[in-house]
Amino acid sequence: MTRPLSERTQNIAASLTVAIDTLAKQMIAEGKDVVSLGAGEPDFATPKPICEAACKAIHEGKTRYTPPVGILEVRKAVSEKLARENGLHYKPEQIIMTSGAKHAVFNSLAALVNPGDEVIVPAPYWVTYPELVKWLGGKPVFVQGKRENDFKITAEQLKAACNERTKAILLNNPCNPTGSVYSKQELAALARVIVAEDIYCISDEVYEYFVYDTEFTSAAAFEGMEERTIVINGFSKSHCMTGWRIGYNAAPAPIAKIIGKIQGQATHHPSNIAQYAALGALSMGMESVNAMRAAFKKRRDYMLERASKILKTPANAPQGAFYLFAPVSDFYGTKTPSGKTIGGSVELCQYLLESEGLAIVPGAAFGDDSCVRFSYAASDEMLQKACDRFERGLKNLV
Ligand code: PLP
Repeated sequence: MTRPLSERTQNIAASLTVAIDTLAKQMIAEGKDVVSLGAGEPDFATPKPICEAACKAIHEGKTRYTPPVGILEVRKAVSEKLARENGLHYKPEQIIMTSGAKHAVFNSLAALVNPGDEVIVPAPYWVTYPELVKWLGGKPVFVQGKRENDFKITAEQLKAACNERTKAILLNNPCNPTGSVYSKQELAALARVIVAEDIYCISDEVYEYFVYDTEFTSAAAFEGMEERTIVINGFSKSHCMTGWRIGYNAAPAPIAKIIGKIQGQATHHPSNIAQYAALGALSMGMESVNAMRAAFKKRRDYMLERASKILKTPANAPQGAFYLFAPVSDFYGTKTPSGKTIGGSVELCQYLLESEGLAIVPGAAFGDDSCVRFSYAASDEMLQKACDRFERGLKNLV
């Protein structure tokens, strides 16, 4: 064939986190000894009440098409959750059930972005954001969160990045890959700029329940924000439902209508069964989420303790999510035992995978080449093995 394929699609990069996880799984399947802390996937099983809700739905024949925006009962439960836990007022008709939170990010950008529009992406960022902005013809504008400010951007930085082409900011709080959590005061300051500049806010809150030394506040909870904020959340992380593909958008009414239209043409709706499973998750209480948070906090402390002995520059203590973003640029310029120079995070991760069987993600994938990302959503045994391999790999660099 000589006719060209979509230019837009050729301009986007494949997800490096997915690529590393796939490669690690392939190496394990080939019998290689690989410890993978590449994927952001809780290692716990989906809680039983959720599985039971899904089985019940199947046995009751809830296996047909649902409305594109999802089942009203589930959307009501999401609306109640947002009111009860976050003080938000999105009505059930403003909730759209999606095939995971990633799909909700796509829906949000598809509803807002015209070709040439700028979308502010605080860096370090989740790998998917800039690629989806580009795919839709927009321009990601990166605003660098400084390490001294725990990788968070300030209201002044946000104001300086806004202009007449700015359409939205894509906030991720708590943040993947840094684990940073914006305080109420920091969010209030950002919200004042967002309102004054009259831009939209897409707020990805998938790690909401995993905060350790602080409290979570939704970006939509500030004056003037709800009518311009699309909240994104889901069940992959909070309820160990990565493979179920279920999440949601909560959006201002006119945007919710557009998202419903997009979804009606693109995917129709997320799996009927997964929607009932999500209803099970919303009805089951917080015991399993609380237990996971406690486990992740212990693991975070372990990772920090080990990192403090291995690294030359101390890592920032993540206040949320389940990632450690470890500074490794002190090792750049060194050589591997086979004589290859470590030029940056990609070479370092390649070396660690090949020589130590350790899969972690280069910071370059998240817009910060000075770090590498560890996911600590893995068993204590795996974390210990990973840290041992990391330590040995770095010690062997000369
Ligand atoms: N948003 C962030 C910040 C993430 O880290 C992830 C997954 O890694 C997602 C969204 C995607 O979640 P889901 O599996 O529900 O699509």
